[in-house]
Amino acid sequence: MYTYMYEAKGRFPEVDTPLPTKDGQGAGAYFNPVPETMSRAELEALQLERLQQTVRHCLTNPFYQKKFQEAGITPNDIKSLADVRRLPFTTKQDLRDTYPFGMACVPLRDCVRLHSSSGTTGNPTVILHTQRDLDEWANQVARNLWMVGLRPDDVFQNSSGYGMFTGGLGFQYGAERLGMLTVPAAAGNSLRQIKFIKDFGTTAIHAVPSYVTRLYEVMQEEGVDPRRDTKLKVLAIGAEPHSEEQRQRIEQMMGVKAYNSFGMSEMCGPGVGFECPEQNGLHFWEDYYIVEIVDPETLEPVPDGEIGELVLTTLCREAMPLLRYRTRDLTRVLGRTCPCGRNHVRLDRMRGRSDDMMVLRGVNIFPIQIEKILMQFSELASNYLITLTTDDNNDNMTVEVELAQPTDDYKQLQTLEREIRRRLKDEILLTPIVRLVNKGTLPVSEGKAVRVVDKRKVYQ
Ligand code: ADP
Ligand code: ZN
Repeated sequence: MYTYMYEAKGRFPEVDTPLPTKDGQGAGAYFNPVPETMSRAELEALQLERLQQTVRHCLTNPFYQKKFQEAGITPNDIKSLADVRRLPFTTKQDLRDTYPFGMACVPLRDCVRLHSSSGTTGNPTVILHTQRDLDEWANQVARNLWMVGLRPDDVFQNSSGYGMFTGGLGFQYGAERLGMLTVPAAAGNSLRQIKFIKDFGTTAIHAVPSYVTRLYEVMQEEGVDPRRDTKLKVLAIGAEPHSEEQRQRIEQMMGVKAYNSFGMSEMCGPGVGFECPEQNGLHFWEDYYIVEIVDPETLEPVPDGEIGELVLTTLCREAMPLLRYRTRDLTRVLGRTCPCGRNHVRLDRMRGRSDDMMVLRGVNIFPIQIEKILMQFSELASNYLITLTTDDNNDNMTVEVELAQPTDDYKQLQTLEREIRRRLKDEILLTPIVRLVNKGTLPVSEGKAVRVVDKRKVYQ
């Protein structure tokens, strides 16, 4: 089971790092000090070595053999880290085309788990894991949770969906790996969640941001004050795009820090990138991935600071390594050093995927731009829905948003609506229809929030 590409060379020194014990021995600032605090030069040397091995490993699979042939390259062409750009990209479509097991680079008998995405169009996608992949994934998640101050004495409640959604098992094994008492509460059933938080002395929760706001609303209804009645100290929020304003709102509501967590099934799941206590972008773990930001049209690299598509190459995966995977997520590089001592690249919070972009009357708009404005109004609650329609051959946008408090004061509502419209126009250059509705009116999902409904006619 453990005899694949890296074992012979002892490629995973961090796996053998003695971890802190429950009684706190060995507890330092870093979960995995060596890879976390490497200099850029050391990190890049490690990346090159791992990239060369990953490429050789990929070439055991006919899919990659063909791709390499088409690109006219061999593993020997990868001499420096910059040579990663000579490698072919892979896409979600490749995963669909090879569904279910066509991109496996180990025999199926050596895989111990698969996750699959829902796949609304065409085939779903499948990601396979060996035991070692799962171990490394747990290490990654544990590293993140440690980074934001969690220790074996903490109680971790994972209020995200389980099953195929990697936020469930991913955080479960990561939190256990760190040594915390871990509660697989799953998403939904807010009353039970709150009871667990109080009864078990939960100190940390992981959930999608839209669910945290829902949880807080139920706390309010139940007269529970998270500051007074719980031991919460850390939230991990992620899996869906959210604005800085939404995060601040969540921090104010719950009275604790909320750290942005990025993951995707293709890369393993959660654990790919996470904010450190500085909250100045997400550290993407470069001992596990090569991070590129490219122009989505030309596929050429963009300079640091400019927004582009995130492209990731796995460096430690056995069952299904992926080369230059086009994530469709849009972000930018903020820096490569950090006061926390980690030199892993810092990326800005995701704008959303390029597929989330709405094009309305020729203007490109991301849902998160709208959220950013809405969250600045204290009169508004956190749930909102954007609906796109075609009326009389014109594309229109309606933004429905819940009020924090119900009111009969129509004049006040009108003024508020007008002000929201004005601020949205400044941001997105179009004037949407704004509808204020009472709390509980808009649908809530237990998983990732659905923010946009597109009812427009499609003209061929
Ligand atoms: P699916 O592709 O079915 O949504 P995943 O759970 O693999 O399943 O989703 C990964 C995607 O979720 C990412 O590509 C990204 O678009 C989004 N995502 C994950 N974490 C974050 C985050 N912290 N901020 C914004 N978007 C995120
Ligand atoms: Zn940092």
